Amino acid sequence: MNEWVEISADPAHVRRERERARALRASAWWRAQVSRGVCHYCGKKVPPSELTMDHIVPVARGGRSTPGNIVPCCRACNAGKGCLTQAERILDELGGASASGVEESEIEE
Ligand SMILES: [Zn+2]
Repeated sequence: MNEWVEISADPAHVRRERERARALRASAWWRAQVSRGVCHYCGKKVPPSELTMDHIVPVARGGRSTPGNIVPCCRACNAGKGCLTQAERILDELGGASASGVEESEIEE
């Protein structure tokens, strides 16, 4: 079907798409997204400096670093704390969190 459906944690794919994400962060397109100052997930107004880059389909799950798969979101949503239910938070503390969140945050620094 669509190319983004490929479910793979292919290291070469991950490395390539993270490099693309880094390049995209320096682009005029991304600056335009950030300058709007709105989190894609919670819709809150956030200072541009507080917005982070998030992949809708995580790179580790075969997601691509394309404008259609990348959105600006606030730190809370990027960390997964903005929209977790209490049950999910407990699972998170027990170590049941998905590894993708950790991997995504590596891109930020
Ligand atoms: Zn948010």
